[in-house]
Amino acid sequence: MIFAPTELTPAEERLRRDVREFLAAELPPDFRPGLGLGGRHDPEFSRKLAAHGWVGMAIPTEYGGGGATPVERFVVVEELLAAGAPILAHWVAERQTAPTLLAFGTQEQREWFLPRIAAGECWFSLGMSEPDAGSDLASVRTAATKVDGGWLVNGTKIWTSAAHLNHFFVVLCRTSPAEDRHHGLSQLIVDLHAPGLKVSPIHYLDGGHHFNEVVFDDVFVPDDRVLGEVGAGWHQVTSELAYERSGPDRYLSVFGLLKAFVTEFGESFDDAQRAAVGRASAKLWTIRQLSLAVARSLERGAAPAVEAALVKDIGTLYEQEVVEVLRHVAGQEIDPGGARMFERLLAEAVQTAPAFTLRGGTTEVLRSIAAKGLTGARR
Ligand SMILES: Cc1cc2nc3c(=O)[nH]c(=O)nc-3n(C[C@H](O)[C@H](O)[C@H](O)COP(=O)(O)OP(=O)(O)OC[C@H]3O[C@@H](n4cnc5c(N)ncnc54)[C@H](O)[C@@H]3O)c2cc1C
Repeated sequence: MIFAPTELTPAEERLRRDVREFLAAELPPDFRPGLGLGGRHDPEFSRKLAAHGWVGMAIPTEYGGGGATPVERFVVVEELLAAGAPILAHWVAERQTAPTLLAFGTQEQREWFLPRIAAGECWFSLGMSEPDAGSDLASVRTAATKVDGGWLVNGTKIWTSAAHLNHFFVVLCRTSPAEDRHHGLSQLIVDLHAPGLKVSPIHYLDGGHHFNEVVFDDVFVPDDRVLGEVGAGWHQVTSELAYERSGPDRYLSVFGLLKAFVTEFGESFDDAQRAAVGRASAKLWTIRQLSLAVARSLERGAAPAVEAALVKDIGTLYEQEVVEVLRHVAGQEIDPGGARMFERLLAEAVQTAPAFTLRGGTTEVLRSIAAKGLTGARR
């Protein structure tokens, strides 16, 4: 396992300043930051960002992207998340679907989807989890049966973020019964408005609509929407999950909360509050350096899956700790309708923080991946 110390180059620092200036101009002064992926789904903002070349940055230029490095993308994403910008529309397509299409998609799929993703106009959800398959993804039961010209899909996906707002989702499904449960799985690109598909909300504790249940009833998916090889879905989905981990989204979810605490109460901090903010800031910087090291290592062409799993583990535990510590030292009642931004964000964070260590793989599962990776490395 390697976390090589690294810093941003002057050009990368300039990019950071450009993004900050853009955000200062675009976001109103009373803007309520989204907490992590709680950022709003705002197609107009995604298009403006894309016009600056900051969506699909890592997509090669031949497909309409920016051809940027993983660290350049890291810089932009870090600024967007620190500001709590409304990035939900393009988020999954940009972070996850685009690299998956580049790795496994057909030329035709790349030519059709990638320029649209880079323009901030084509939005994806993730269709992995099912009622009885979350951590244990290999037990998915959504099944695709071969028919003339394509596949008929039946089954149920759950916890599908933003499926009611997006255009497509990549669905992990069983295309043949297999004795080895890791074989016989495939990925299909499914239109979220296809006939036979029903998207129903699963509301958050606070009433918010982020999640969905998606039911397939004989949904037809044409052959040219098979992503990668039929039967290679397990290998593909596990590589895809590496893009989902280790990024700034795993330690910046509550940055807006920390910032609001300092901005609104910093002048009158007592010793305990000052110490709490100091500790939270120091830890944030340490985790950020680890995440940056992973991005730099990706830039060099390495595949730091174990490092990525560990950064997500410590990053998301850090996020939950910040919520608990601030709640304790602030000494306030939880009030979603509070007069100050900090109070409103704290109420939201208390209700959503449990999800930080679930989405993208639970803490236990990530530690198991890291342990297996380290054991393998020793052998
Ligand atoms: C905010 C949020 C957004 C999400 N968005 C999406 C999405 O868009 N698309 C999608 O497909 N999914 C999504 N998910 C689902 C998420 O990926 C799953 O919730 C997660 O993988 C855990 O699966 P599960 O809920 O079935 O829990 P389970 O797998 O049932 O786990 C329950 C508990 O058992 C533990 N456990 C399970 N297996 C092991 C093991 N082998 N060893 C030790 N402990 C174990 C887990 O750590 C956990 O504590 C989202 C989840 C959240 C919270």
